[in-house]
Order: sequence, then structure tokens, then C-alpha cells
Amino acid sequence: MTSRTPEEARKEESPAPARSAAGGPEPGVVYLVGAGPGDPGLLTRRGAELLGRADAVVHDHLAAPELLSLAPPGSKKIYVGKTGSRHTLRQDDINRLLAEEALAGRTVVRLKGGDPYVFGRGAEEALELRRRGIRFEVVPGVTSAVAAAACAGIPLTHRDLASQVVLITGREKPGKSSSSHDWAALAKMGTLAAVMGAENLPEIAGNLIAAGKDPGTPAALVQWGTTAGQRTARASLGDLPGLVKKLGLGPPALLVVGEVAGLGRELDWFEERPLFGKTVLVTRTAGQAGKLSARLAELGARVLGRPAIEIVPITPNPGLAEAVKNLRAFKHLVLTSPNGARIFMESVLAAGLDARALFGVRIAVIGPGTDAQLRPFGLKADVVPPEFIAESLLASLSREKPGPLLLARAEEARDVLPRGLADLGFEVAAVPLYRTRDAVWPDFPAAAGRTPGGGPDPGTEAGVADFLAGIDLATLTSASAARGLAAHVPENLRGLVKAVSIGPVTTREARALGLDVVAEARQATVEHLAEAAASLFPRT
Ligand code: SAH
Repeated sequence: MTSRTPEEARKEESPAPARSAAGGPEPGVVYLVGAGPGDPGLLTRRGAELLGRADAVVHDHLAAPELLSLAPPGSKKIYVGKTGSRHTLRQDDINRLLAEEALAGRTVVRLKGGDPYVFGRGAEEALELRRRGIRFEVVPGVTSAVAAAACAGIPLTHRDLASQVVLITGREKPGKSSSSHDWAALAKMGTLAAVMGAENLPEIAGNLIAAGKDPGTPAALVQWGTTAGQRTARASLGDLPGLVKKLGLGPPALLVVGEVAGLGRELDWFEERPLFGKTVLVTRTAGQAGKLSARLAELGARVLGRPAIEIVPITPNPGLAEAVKNLRAFKHLVLTSPNGARIFMESVLAAGLDARALFGVRIAVIGPGTDAQLRPFGLKADVVPPEFIAESLLASLSREKPGPLLLARAEEARDVLPRGLADLGFEVAAVPLYRTRDAVWPDFPAAAGRTPGGGPDPGTEAGVADFLAGIDLATLTSASAARGLAAHVPENLRGLVKAVSIGPVTTREARALGLDVVAEARQATVEHLAEAAASLFPRT
């Protein structure tokens, strides 16, 4: 008998690969991808890569919605629900759906909360795919059992406090007559972590105590762990059900019972962050919101992204085309915004040129954000003023030798720069790159119509007031962003908007419009803007 490697043995024992009907497409692979516990940053790199090339994404309510934007724009997004017992699709139907999508030739990502094989019914999906001979892969995820605990300041193990962790489900299969948990054994374990820990919390606590667990054992319930909406109840095992009820916590929540839960208060870092529990409106344009939103989220904020303005490149733009063709005629190039830098360089590339077209041209920018936009194009600014406003840029340029200067910027920009530059002796050619216009917010204040789910019509004053009541702060990154936000809010309600401004020019504009500016960045960068927001909520 010839010996087989385990690999060969597995191949022989596997069913033949599925074939679709004659002439049908080659079946796709189903990837059972762990979406992580809720914070989109906790998706694995492999998961992100697969989402990036999925034809179909089958997701449920625990996978962070932001993750869907990683899938290609044209891909199918299929929601299969699953909130406790209220399933949108039955498990059998989900299994069938995965198979059908794969047989239609699609690359399928089955995005599952946490880890696919930790109480996620991933095994059932995999078994069904194997039975049908459809190829699948499992991409492990960060399970909420570990992550929600960590973000509540609870290490599941500790050398002196817990040498075992037991992971259980708090909701057993419906219809089971008696619990399959050995409560006496569980009561003796170091740390007990229960997913679906909210639904039957009083029974779980009761069973543990009846089996001999000390009712004084530290315990915690963590709802929506790792997300901006995380809420934690901490009490003794005996008191926890009452506290959870009082606080109104419910699924999805992780229950942790054991001495380690007592470390939670001391080791909390997550809910202590300055902007934790605050909702911050970011009105930057879609392409630019990333860095500010990420910084605010890092400080704990729930970030609501609504671009107040849209950047519309001017096309056709003969003035720009002419200037780009004759770049060598200029000694200086001045760029006054990140968008401007990007649009300018794209027009250089579009003209069949590259960074070398700027050989010998000194580049001045308004601030580090604009400078950063030049890097991908192989360029670095020569002049970055100490303060990121036109006046400071002028002061820096006054140290340069005057000559022909190209000023490329927004169409509706202030006159300060061209006039100041001319006064300094530069021969200024100003070309507009883009104009800004108020973005339409589809749900607010909804020129589009009424909210389907009742509640005030967002188009009415009550609707706007309602929206503003849900926001702790609005960030304003430019005067035009202030105008864009104000355009969405009736004048008599503007005082309700607590705004943090990126600098004095923006502050002045915002105040003139009736917005209530409560803080200003020390310097005009998104980091300083986020810091100014955080400084409004000092932790004691
Ligand atoms: N496979 C998932 C668990 C699925 S069972 C995992 O590995 O995390 C669903 C349960 O997971 C929820 O009822 C809740 O108990 C837990 N859960 C999921 N996300 C959670 C979160 N962000 N915070 C707390 N618990 C969470």
C-alpha cells in the first residue's frame, strides 16, 4: 500500500469540488470572515483584503457597518439579520444562500461578528459548504469574548486571580429542556465569560450562586464592547442583574464573572478617554474626513460624518491648463488647501507631465496638511508658515525673492493673498482649481422628504433641532465648512450648534453666521482641532 500524506488523505476524503450546471461559471470560494467585535479597526488584514475583492458580502447585525465600505462599490451586500431570536433569515436559508452565491461564480465573504467559530454558527455554515463540495476558508476574527472584556478594563486571565477561562453561551439552544451547563463545575472556574450574557443574566447568576459561587464575586456586563457605544455595568455577581436592569443594558453583551472583573475599574482606559460618550459631527468633505475622524474616534468619540461642502473641480479649466503647460515660467507655486494640492497635481499628471515639471519652482503651502498631499506626487513644500493662515504665509513668503508666482486655489477665496503677494513684489497669476458648494444631506434637513420611521420630519425645524440635540460638538475645518453647516441649519437654531473651530478665520465666520464656537485649535491642524475638542471635557 502506498502511504499518503495527510494532505493527500484529506483531498481523497473530500467530496469532489462542486460543478455548476454545464456551461455555468466556475464556483466561487466562500470566506467565513471574522469581522471582529465591533470596532472596525479590529478587522484582520486578511479580512480587509478579502472584503476588498468580494463579489458578494453576506453580513449580519454584529459586523460593523463601516466594514461594508471596504467591499467594491458594485458588490452585492446581503443582510441576513440575526438579533437574538429575531432572525431575518433562518440559518438553513443562510447556508443555502452562501452556496447559491458561490455556485453563481461569486467570491463570497460571509462576514460574521467576532470570530466565526466562537458561538457564531460558523461551523454549521462550513459543514453545509463542505457537504455541497463548495470551497471555503475561515478567517479567524477577534472575538468579542476577549475584546469586549479588554475594552472594559478586564483581562480574562491574571497570574494570581484566574488560571482558567471558561467561555459559555448564556443562551442555549431554544427548546432544550435542561441546561447543558454543569453549573457546579462552572462555579469553581477562575473566569467565566458568557456571550449572549444579557438575555438570561438573572438565571445565570442564580444558577452560579446556587452551585456555590460566592455572590460577592466581582462581575461585569459589557454592552457593545469596543465601540463608541460601549456601556459597562460593574457589580458583585449577586447585585449585577439588578444594576443591569436599572441601567437598561441588553444584548449584545458579554458577561464576565470572576476576580479579574474586579480589576475593571482600575484598568479602565476605554471609557475614560476624553471624548468617550460624545457624538461629534465632522463636516469635512468625504475624501478628507478620514484623519480627523480617526483622531476623534481614538479619543473615544462617536463620529458622525456629514460633509457640509462638496469640492467640485472646475472643468474645463483653460486657465489652469495654460499655467500647467508653462510651469517653467514660474519661480513660485502657492497652494492653499489639501484639495487644491491634489487637484493641481492631478492636472499636472493629466497633462502628461509629472513632478519634474516643477523643477526649479519653489513651492509654498498653507500648512502641513497641504504639504502631506504633495508627498504621493513626489514633492515636498519649501515654505510652510508657522501659522496656517494667509497672513502667516505672506510673512513667510516675504523672505523669498519675488518673481513670477502661480497661485492655485479655490475659486471663492479671499483677496488677502493675491493683494499681499503683489505688494511684496511678486507677479501673481491666480488660477481657480475648484469651487465648493453645500452638500446635500440626504437625511437632514432632508429636502428629500419625511423620515419613514416616524419622528419629526428632518426638514422641519423640529427635525433639525432633534438632530442637533443628538450632537455634542461640531468640528469646523474651514470658513467654507462653517458656511456649509450653517446652510443646513435655520438661523434661529444655529446657537444650538456647539462648534470647535480650526482657527481664527473660521471662528470669525462661524460666529458671524450665529454658530456657537466653544473652542479653537491652537494651531490649524486636525490634531490640534481634536485636542481642542477633547479639552472641553477634562476628566477628573
Ligand atoms: N462570534 C461572535 C459571537 C456571536 S454570539 C464572537 O466571537 O464575538 C453573539 C454574542 O456575542 C452577543 O450576544 C454578545 O454576547 C457577543 N458580542 C458580540 N459583539 C459584542 C460586543 N461588541 N460587545 C459585547 N458582546 C458582544
